[in-house]
Amino acid sequence: MTVRKKYHLIIFTWFLFGSIFGLLSLYVHESFIIILIGLAIFLGTYSLVLKCQNCGKSVLRNTVNLFGMKMDMVTARIPKTCQKCGIKIE
Ligand SMILES: [Zn+2]
Repeated sequence: MTVRKKYHLIIFTWFLFGSIFGLLSLYVHESFIIILIGLAIFLGTYSLVLKCQNCGKSVLRNTVNLFGMKMDMVTARIPKTCQKCGIKIE
């Protein structure tokens, strides 16, 4: 499975199970919020270890140009090419 497909699967899982456990914690029992937080931590960690297939750089950590300042930060989308080695990220 490609990095991009894995990332789309993470987003899909988050919206599906996030809304299910969010509703359960609102209407059934508050303790479902623990599962929700656990899910957020798990999916967040998993998305950060998604790496470029060529050089191993995390695909979500990118240098962005913010009002003229270059900042290294975690972005919500995967760029078309790797910022370190320039290979196309699939
Ligand atoms: Zn790379």
